[in-house]
Amino acid sequence: MDSIEELIRAFEGTYVGQNMADLVELYSTIEKQTNNFCSKYSIACGSGCGTCCEHFMPDITVSEARLVAAYLLLFKKDTTRIEAVNNAQGNTSGPCPLYDPDSPHHCTVYQARPLICRLFGACASQGKDGRAVFRRCKYNGEQTMPLSLTFDEDVPVMQDYSYALRSLDDGNGKVGYLSEMVSSLVEQLRFLSSMLSLDDTNPDDTPTPLAS
Ligand code: SF4
Ligand code: SF4
Repeated sequence: MDSIEELIRAFEGTYVGQNMADLVELYSTIEKQTNNFCSKYSIACGSGCGTCCEHFMPDITVSEARLVAAYLLLFKKDTTRIEAVNNAQGNTSGPCPLYDPDSPHHCTVYQARPLICRLFGACASQGKDGRAVFRRCKYNGEQTMPLSLTFDEDVPVMQDYSYALRSLDDGNGKVGYLSEMVSSLVEQLRFLSSMLSLDDTNPDDTPTPLAS
């Protein structure tokens, strides 16, 4: 597989395939909006910074966990990283098991990374008075983003993106720590992959270089 689109196509005709396609489309829309927002308000992370991933275990939805699991299992075929995720169960404060300082953007699943990772340090939140506010990431020692902004105009806020994300999941909208959620979805996907005759094996267990 050469792309995340190809990964999604492998599940075409199934609920899982449609759910992955919907999630990737939502991520793409959000990425455009956050890029515009950051560009307009001069918000940027420090060069080479990945400190948040060292101190953080993301909360993610079932849809997000499934995409990450499929990315690790069938796109990267990275059994070592899957084992690291399994071993991180019970760790609620980080580092994230998908963090790798030598990987592009420090994230081994960058293309499939969860919503909170896309928004952290790059999005406003709804304040108590109903207005949108942006606060600088506490790890941004280089001060490459404004300390604080309050908006009178309508800007996208984290809560709206969260609602959009939750709407993709049926059932009770379960959210949990990345390590637990991805571990359980890897097992489900292994079963589905075998039903669809998808190959999740990698002869030498070497992660593909197209990772992030
Ligand atoms: S959000 Fe903060 S810690 Fe994370 S990369 Fe940006 S500046 Fe660094
Ligand atoms: S999933 Fe990737 S971006 Fe998110 S915390 Fe883990 S390493 Fe960082």
